[in-house]
Amino acid sequence: MSTEKISANEIKTKNRRMIYNYIRKCDSVSKQDIVVDMQLSLPTVTANLDFLKKQNLIDTSGKIKNTGGRNATAFTYVKNARMSIGVDITAKHITAVAVNLSGDIVSMERRRIEFNLEDDAYLQEIGAVVECVKKDAGIADENLLGVGISVQSLISDDGERITYGMALNFARTEREEIARYIPYRNRLIHDSYAAGYRETWTNKEFENAFYISLSNSVGGSVIIEDAIYEGNTHKGGEIGHMAVVPRGGDLCYCGKRGCFDTVCKAGRLADYTDGNLEEFFRVLDAGDETAKELWDTYLDYLVMAIHNVRMLFDGRVILGGYVGALVGKYMEDICRRVDEKNPFGDRAKDYLVECSYKVEASAAGAALFFIDEFFDSV
Ligand SMILES: [Zn+2]
Repeated sequence: MSTEKISANEIKTKNRRMIYNYIRKCDSVSKQDIVVDMQLSLPTVTANLDFLKKQNLIDTSGKIKNTGGRNATAFTYVKNARMSIGVDITAKHITAVAVNLSGDIVSMERRRIEFNLEDDAYLQEIGAVVECVKKDAGIADENLLGVGISVQSLISDDGERITYGMALNFARTEREEIARYIPYRNRLIHDSYAAGYRETWTNKEFENAFYISLSNSVGGSVIIEDAIYEGNTHKGGEIGHMAVVPRGGDLCYCGKRGCFDTVCKAGRLADYTDGNLEEFFRVLDAGDETAKELWDTYLDYLVMAIHNVRMLFDGRVILGGYVGALVGKYMEDICRRVDEKNPFGDRAKDYLVECSYKVEASAAGAALFFIDEFFDSV
């Protein structure tokens, strides 16, 4: 008996989720269309629409114009009904974004502050940045789904602990400590996974892809069938520590030599222009000889990595992070150099892309964790 009850409930929940997702996809739809397109009974559809309306997840104030008959009520999806917040903690900045159910950034706050988890004032600042976007986006407590905290480190399965965080000095490794001043549900998320997820979340045609994050440190994420593949021990995609300089090479922050991080971190370029990456690309565009040499060496390694990733995964390759956001003008040249290595004749222009989310991808990706969790629970 009890099994039957559960399955009846499951069907109910499944129907509700299907109807909600259908309205989200259509944007605006009539009840009759839902009944016909989803092949559900009118009472089932009515009951579920009432439920979604009570939750403020759909709006019924619009009308759909019928030719001939009277106008039908339009059921419209309310994208700001719930929101989540993502915070990205880096060496010199704390950035937070508020994201709605469509994945749009509704509010953003970026503050320059030196990373120091041992300083209570720094922890308070993390909380203050979260409050700032919450207020700016007008999110009521009951509509805030959660806060995803993106960090440059590997994270335990439950999002509670940093398991490896050498890129920055993670003196505190427990979520509880880092989020001391965030009084909302929260979890830690690996920054490269968050950024990769941001790319694939709205761009479902990727299916299989590898996101290379070229920021102050280099990371990556493997996307298989639009989900992040983390590997057996959550280190999947750690391209930054792929060995690319066979002997010697510069010392990596991980303690080894010759890692991909040492040759393709953004600083390899930005150090030439006092840490300003935009300025590096400006002088490169202007034909500066030293910038050209630095860029050429940088590309030698980047092209090798792109080629190797393509050989391993045969999926899309996305150039992301700080460098990926600025690389647009040079894509043709990069594609040409990658093609020279490819033995199968497939063209890089068909699989290699620059990231489409150039602004705070890690923070937004971290927020999306809670949006997805919400969609699974409607
Ligand atoms: Zn390394």
